[in-house]
Amino acid sequence: MFLKFLRPLHKTLGLRLSGYFSLFTLGGLVFCAITYSSLAYILAHKDRETTQLQLTAYMQMYTRGGTDALKARVEEQRRSGTLAFFVRISAPGYDFSYLPQQWDEEFDLNYLTALGHNAPAWLSVASKDKETLDIASMRLADGALLQVGLNSEGRLDLLELFLNTFVVMMVLVVVIGLVGGAFLARRALRPLKELLSLLRAIVATGALDARAPITGTGDELDELSGLFNVMLDKIKRLITGMRNALDNVAHDLRTPMTRLRGTAEMALRTDAPPEQLREALANCIEESDHILAMLSTLMDISEAQTGTIKLDMVPMNVSSLIEHVVELYSPIAEEKGILITTVVPPDLTLCADRTRMMQVVANLLDNAIKYTPPTGRIELAAVLRAQRVVITVSDSGIGIPAEELDKIFDRLYRGDQSRSQRGLGLGLSLVKAVVHAHQGSVEVASDNAQGSRFTIALPA
Ligand code: ADP
Repeated sequence: MFLKFLRPLHKTLGLRLSGYFSLFTLGGLVFCAITYSSLAYILAHKDRETTQLQLTAYMQMYTRGGTDALKARVEEQRRSGTLAFFVRISAPGYDFSYLPQQWDEEFDLNYLTALGHNAPAWLSVASKDKETLDIASMRLADGALLQVGLNSEGRLDLLELFLNTFVVMMVLVVVIGLVGGAFLARRALRPLKELLSLLRAIVATGALDARAPITGTGDELDELSGLFNVMLDKIKRLITGMRNALDNVAHDLRTPMTRLRGTAEMALRTDAPPEQLREALANCIEESDHILAMLSTLMDISEAQTGTIKLDMVPMNVSSLIEHVVELYSPIAEEKGILITTVVPPDLTLCADRTRMMQVVANLLDNAIKYTPPTGRIELAAVLRAQRVVITVSDSGIGIPAEELDKIFDRLYRGDQSRSQRGLGLGLSLVKAVVHAHQGSVEVASDNAQGSRFTIALPA
C-alpha cells in the first residue's frame, strides 16, 4: 500500500523544479565566472596602459635632463612617498633600482639583474605572496635600460573584493531561492495535490459526488479544477441517464417478453394438433421480432436522451432529404389513395446527421399516412425562420384529441383511436429525442376534425 505512493523520484514535479533551479544556479555561476575573467583582463590591461604611460613620462624626463635628472626625480618622489612604480635604470657601469616605500612585498629583483640588458618589452617578477611586479622595459638613446613596474596588489585586491561579494550574493540567492522556491512550489502545487487525492478517492470508491475545490485565483490549475468538476458532472449525468435508460428498457420489455413466454408455455402445455402448435410458434416469432424492433428503438431513444448518440453533423439540402423520404413512402401512400405534396425552397440547407434526420421525417410521414384515411392529403413543408430550419408535416387525418396532445411523445404511449394501426408507441419519442439531441424543438397542433400538424425547428 505504502509502495503505491512511492513514485520514482525523477517523476516528481518538485524534483524537476529543483532541477530547473540548479540549472539557474549553474547559469549564475557561469555568468559570474565570465564576468570575473573579463574584469581581470580589463584591469590587467589598464595596469599595463598606466605603466606604459609612466615609462614614456620617465623616458621624456631622461631625454630632457639625462640620467641624473631622471634619478633625482625618482629619488625625490620616493622620499616624499609619491613614487607609485618600480623604476630601474641600468647601463654598463651603473644600475639603480627604486621601489616605493609602501610596498612591503619582497620581489626577487636578482632575476632582473640576471637578465642583463636583454629584458623583453614586458616581464613579471613574482613576490613571496601572490602579487607580481609587472615591468615594462625600454632601451634609451644612450643604450641604457629603463624599466618601470607596477605592483599587481591593487588589481588583485579589487578582484578579491568582487569574488567575495559574488560568493556572498550567490549564497544568498541560493538560500533565498531554495526556501522561497520550495514555499512557492508547495503553494502552487497544492490544488494539484488536492485534485490528485480527489482522483484517488474516486478511483478507490467510485463515488462521483466529491468536487475539486475552486480557489478563485483564475489560474490554469483553478481552470483545471473547474473543468474537472464539469467533467464529473457530465459523467454523473451520463451514468444516471444510462441507469434510467436501462431501467426503462427492462421495464418496457417485460410485457412483450411475458407475452412471448405465455404463448410458448400454452403451446407446450396443450395437446393441440401440429397446426395449432405451428401457429403458436409463428406467434412467438412475431413477438420476438416485435421485441427486437422495440429494443432497437428503445436503445436509439436512450442514446439520444443521454447524449451518447454519435451525430455525424453535415450540411445537407433539406429539399433532397424530404424528397428522398417521400419517395420511400409514396408506394404506401398511393396504395391508400393519399396525395403527398412538398413545399420546400430548393436551396434550403441544414447542418445535421443525415440518417437521423431521415429517421425523424420518415417517422412523422409514416404516422401521417397511418392516421389519414384514404383520399386524404399530406403536406411536407420547410422554411428558414429566425436562423432555424422549420419542417412541418401536416395531414388531413383523424387528428389527436386535446387530452392526448401532451402524452403522445411519451414512450410506449398509443392514442385511443390508433389501436387498430400497427405500431410500438415509440415513433414520436424517438423523433423528440433525436430533435433535442440536435438542439431543436418539436411541437404538435391538431384539430380533431382537420388532421394534425407536426413542426420541428432545428438550428440552420
Ligand atoms: P405509434 O404510431 O406507433 O402508435 P407514435 O409514438 O408514433 O406511436 O405515436 C404516438 C401516438 O400519437 C399514436 O398512437 C397516435 O395516437 C398519435 N399520433 C401520432 N401521429 C399522429 C397523426 N399524424 N395523426 C393522428 N394521431 C397521431
